[in-house]
Amino acid sequence: MSNNLQAIRGMHDILPDQTGLWQRIEDSARAVIESYGYAEIRTPLVEVTELFKRSIGEVTDIVEKEMYSFPDRGGDSLSLRPEGTASCVRAAVEHGLLNQAQRLWYRGPMFRHERPQKGRYRQFHQIGVEVFGLPGPDVDLEVILITRRIWRALGLSDLRLEVNTLGEGPERTAYRTELVRYLAAHEGELDEDSCRRLETNPLRVLDSKNPELRELIAGAPSILDHLGEASRAHFASLCAGLDAAGIHYRVNPRLVRGLDYYNRTVFEWVSDRLGAQGTVCAGGRYDGLVQQLGGRATPAVGFALGLERLVALVEESPGTPGPALDAYLVAVGPAAEQRALLLAEELREAVPGLRLLCHCGGGSFKSQFKKADKSGARYALVLGDAELARGVAGIKPLRDDGEQVELPLAGLAGFLAGAD
Ligand code: ATP
Ligand code: MG
Repeated sequence: MSNNLQAIRGMHDILPDQTGLWQRIEDSARAVIESYGYAEIRTPLVEVTELFKRSIGEVTDIVEKEMYSFPDRGGDSLSLRPEGTASCVRAAVEHGLLNQAQRLWYRGPMFRHERPQKGRYRQFHQIGVEVFGLPGPDVDLEVILITRRIWRALGLSDLRLEVNTLGEGPERTAYRTELVRYLAAHEGELDEDSCRRLETNPLRVLDSKNPELRELIAGAPSILDHLGEASRAHFASLCAGLDAAGIHYRVNPRLVRGLDYYNRTVFEWVSDRLGAQGTVCAGGRYDGLVQQLGGRATPAVGFALGLERLVALVEESPGTPGPALDAYLVAVGPAAEQRALLLAEELREAVPGLRLLCHCGGGSFKSQFKKADKSGARYALVLGDAELARGVAGIKPLRDDGEQVELPLAGLAGFLAGAD
């Protein structure tokens, strides 16, 4: 078998028996997001490496060890995008979108060279939103309301919301000093990564995935004790909004997120059903990023949700999807076979949204019926030369008991349109 080519480790095919579920989730999320007036933006999968270094941060997991970077033929360093925010900001600045408020959304594959495991892949998919030009906290609440509506649309009721604020630059500097003091006093308990981060980027230590550090992190000082008046008011207003909207949440003062560009509001939606990879959606405010990437100072907030983790959750939830096909057209005999594709064409034209598979390749009634049954279609439409000569077709329900009935060809569209 070693001759057979295979997909790259951590990058997966999404096969036909799965794509229906993916489409349902993507369609629901899109409909929800667009119902808030957000417009889609599509950016390239590849950007200059510098973009991610300057936005996500040099001392983050993503930039230190997870990027797919390569020199292109001209010698520039390019990278497959590990996330969507940096590209959105780059595009918004480049095309002058930021002279007014923007509500944008995107979807697509992201690439990170992580250790593949359940819920963690090297190519994975996100849907995200980014809002530019609005300082919040009203719009911080809006993006969280969007996520809640997506969970509702998908029938998910067991996701937990965690929120925190990271304050502003000077507040974080003061907090950082106290955090370093605490961590340095426990240096013996830190793992190698965290020891290094203690020097370079101590807040990152709080985001460690190492379970042995959990207790140490839980005992760390809290950013909430270092907030100035404006940051405190922003956070209090967001929390009041969440209360008013009836959204349960937990304030987690150690929630810092894995990317450096956040300030003030950060949040995560977490599931207990996904094991260690429980975060389904993460986001927050990043008021400094646009300027950092060469635009003029523009407040911004957004989130990204991980589609693989969402698919895993919805897959486990009760509720079976409806049949994928409405009808399967069976045709036997030279005249019927010749007519079948055109009849199918007329039916699709006449019945919007009809999912009709027309048998190709001939064969007996029996073998075609078997295929019709296996296809999961609701009805078999049966066309033989004799029926065709009389201007009729048979209709046989496949999913429930019921006799085959005959209808004039001209009545088929009406029947299929009325079947729900
Ligand atoms: P984690 O803490 O799980 O590493 P992260 O902080 O790196 O996540 P973000 O960059 O904020 O995650 O991405 C937002 C969402 O995208 C995550 O909550 C998760 O659902 C999904 N995601 C991130 N990385 C992966 C991955 N390697 N495979 C699958 N989904 C991922
Ligand atoms: Mg990560």
